[in-house]
Amino acid sequence: MRALIVEDHAPLARQVIAALAEAGFVADHAPDGEEGLFLGETEPYDAVVLDLGLPLLDGLSVLRRWRGAGRDMPVLILTARDAWSEKVEGLNAGADDYLAKPFVMPELVARIQALVRRAHGRGRPEIALGRLVVDTGAQRVLLDGVPVKLTGLEYRTLGYLAHRAGKVVSKTELTEHLYAQDFDRDSNTLEVMVARLRKKLGEGVIETLRGQGYRLVESL
Ligand code: CA
Repeated sequence: MRALIVEDHAPLARQVIAALAEAGFVADHAPDGEEGLFLGETEPYDAVVLDLGLPLLDGLSVLRRWRGAGRDMPVLILTARDAWSEKVEGLNAGADDYLAKPFVMPELVARIQALVRRAHGRGRPEIALGRLVVDTGAQRVLLDGVPVKLTGLEYRTLGYLAHRAGKVVSKTELTEHLYAQDFDRDSNTLEVMVARLRKKLGEGVIETLRGQGYRLVESL
């Protein structure tokens, strides 16, 4: 999963990025509203954390322009404490959730995970695919009830495919949701990783559809 953090307070942005990384997200950071607007318009994100008080362009304007342009990724806004009108304005502008500053990281992570689940039409954090269970809350993978050890990148790959289980995911889409913007992307790396996942989970788990992409089987 890939997130965008639009926050001008650099230490806070770093904390958010680190907390989300532990939950299996890669994140891009925009330190002002204009860069945030641009990234949100051009890159595919699974979730966005958007501060409202930003230099160059305020967060509400950024959000309105994304929604006006049909960008419908889940957005959590960061508001000032006790500013109920900001929360109302933000939600009415198309925000999916809000957190008032100061907040604790586990709450932000839990809310972002809930937004991602809902965006994929899921209510539960555990994605059960027959013998395979991907617990997106605890970032745990079980095969026949036994935990499978995965690297961070392997987990991100499986997690994304699990959210989209039964659907074909192109290599481009998968790459765009696995790596941050500044990462040197290489499609060979993806193939090697899928091969490693098959070794750990069994050959039948991830299908390759020639010229189309990958599909995680819904019932193993
Ligand atoms: Ca700010």
